[in-house]
Amino acid sequence: MKLLEDRIRTEGTVKNGVILKVDSFLNHQMDAELFRAMAKEWKRRFADAGVNKILTIEASGIGLACIAAEEFGCRAVFAKKIAGNNMDTDVYSTKIMSFTKGKVFDVVISKRFLTPEDRVLILDDFLANGCALQGLMDLVKQSGATLVGCGIAIEKGFQEGGKRIREEGVRLESLAIIDSMEGGNLVFREEA
Ligand code: 5GP
Repeated sequence: MKLLEDRIRTEGTVKNGVILKVDSFLNHQMDAELFRAMAKEWKRRFADAGVNKILTIEASGIGLACIAAEEFGCRAVFAKKIAGNNMDTDVYSTKIMSFTKGKVFDVVISKRFLTPEDRVLILDDFLANGCALQGLMDLVKQSGATLVGCGIAIEKGFQEGGKRIREEGVRLESLAIIDSMEGGNLVFREEA
């Protein structure tokens, strides 16, 4: 998606060779106008999928999920990261290794907000090794809901997550795919 790629090119910076920092429009300060354009693009790509629930994980996915939910005419729900022994019984739970924080979180979602009637589109800001998406897909599976696919803002194509998830047969739509960030030079995949 050209609009997103242009924004990454002008405002993105590379940290430690492997982290893309886009906190001026996505991860800290948020550009709702850009989010709206991204939401419309996901709506276009998943138009035939009968989506009736958007699922994301706190924190950075929430803004995207909210605006996307408005486009799809449904509700958005986010999985919460919790401290280990504070586990409710009426939740589905899983463990997710955080790529940026380097630690494992317990992640939960209330059973009230993910049910077998739901046709779920999972959205997130980044895809790296795929741990966040795998965890969210596990929650969908536990609930008996139908996973229609995953939408990602920025996929780092040089990490394994995207390849692995597509090989599982999951419909994965990333709006920008970066195949290399070597020397801070961003190389985008054409077909995204
Ligand atoms: P994964 O679980 O696929 O390894 O990593 C995805 C999660 O880690 C995303 O939810 C995102 O918050 C974070 N993440 C991974 N790579 C990056 C990155 O390059 N930049 C930023 N800002 N976040 C990232």
